[in-house]
This record gives sequence, C-alpha cells and structure tokens, in this order.
Amino acid sequence: MQARVQLASRCSNCHYLTETMQHVLFHYSRAMEVWRWLSSKVEANLVTDSLESVLNIMLCRWDNDIRQMVICVVIHCVWHIWLIRNDNKYNGRNSSTQALLASISRSISLSSNLMDCKTRFWNDRRLLVKFNIRLTFVPHKIPKQVMWYPPLEGFIKCNSDRGSLGCPGHSITRSIFRDSKGNFLGAYASYVGIHSTLEAELMSVMITMDYVQ
Ligand SMILES: [Zn+2]
Repeated sequence: MQARVQLASRCSNCHYLTETMQHVLFHYSRAMEVWRWLSSKVEANLVTDSLESVLNIMLCRWDNDIRQMVICVVIHCVWHIWLIRNDNKYNGRNSSTQALLASISRSISLSSNLMDCKTRFWNDRRLLVKFNIRLTFVPHKIPKQVMWYPPLEGFIKCNSDRGSLGCPGHSITRSIFRDSKGNFLGAYASYVGIHSTLEAELMSVMITMDYVQ
C-alpha cells in the first residue's frame, strides 16, 4: 500500500518557506522591493505584512477625495508582484527592478488618469504629481454671508446644524442658543456616530429638542 503524503508548496524564490499568498505578496524578495519603493515614494513607513495594514496607513494619510486613487496604487503593486512571481515561476524570467517599478508607475498613471482625481489639499497634490497623475484642483468655497435675525423679546432662538464626513460617515450635531439681544445662552456639539446626511440632520433636531425640554 502506498502512503500518500501531501507536500506543502515551496516558495520558488527562497526554496525554503511555504508559498502562502501572504508570503508571495509581502515576504517574497521581489515583493519587498515593491513595498520599499512605495514607502519611499509616498514618504511613509508602510507596515507591509498584510494588505489591510498597507491600505490602513495609505488611507489615513490622504484625503477621502483621492481614496480611489490610493487604493488603485496598492492594487497595481499587488498585481505586479503576482505577475512577476508567475513570470519567474512558470517562464523562468526575472525582469529587472527598474523595469518592474517603471511598469507599476505606468499602470498607476494610466488608470488613475481615467478617474479624474479632484483635490483641495497640497499633500494630495504632491502624491498625484509623484505618480504622474493629472489632477483637477478644486478651489476653496467662497464663504457665504448669512444674516442672523434675533428672536422676539422673551424668546430664545436656537440655530442647529450637522456635519458629516461622507454619506454615510462620521457625523456631529451642534446648536447655539441666543436671546433677543443676541446674548449667547449656551451651545453644544456632540458626535453621533456613522449616519447618512438626512439621519444626522434629523438627529440634530431631536437632540436640540431634548436640550430645549
Ligand atoms: Zn520565499
């Protein structure tokens, strides 16, 4: 009777460790070249042991406006690591680091330019320029003048509003209470969790009503 022993797949690069997806994408020597290059390109200390840790650092560093583009950068890095591993394993080819990084840069530039990246922030612009991405600069909004009219004597006026970072997104509500002479009577601001714009607006009204009671 023949005993069947299943052998774990050995890494074709180091011929020592088991070739898991994590090993190929993060610990394979060619993968490490790519992550080192990306770390210096984005001037960040990337923790390159999982896709989640790379994305977490990248997404915290730049504004939501260019979120898609930041994800695109990471995806192209992962895709090229996979391609170069396959080319080496199945075709015996080993392209140079320079050719690999140039190919990643071209792919990032090509696909990001189709996204029409818009940004208001200098830090974001620097990143886009580094990857040769055409950017649309969004000018800051011109402040709108608003007139505030006092309430009738003996009444208190409350102005409330909400703010959300995205929809749905982290939301806050705030209100200010003033009398007929415009005297400040009180105010509050509180974080209400992740909500849509409409939910945050309604919560703002409800919380304000609670304060009034
Ligand atoms: Zn290996």
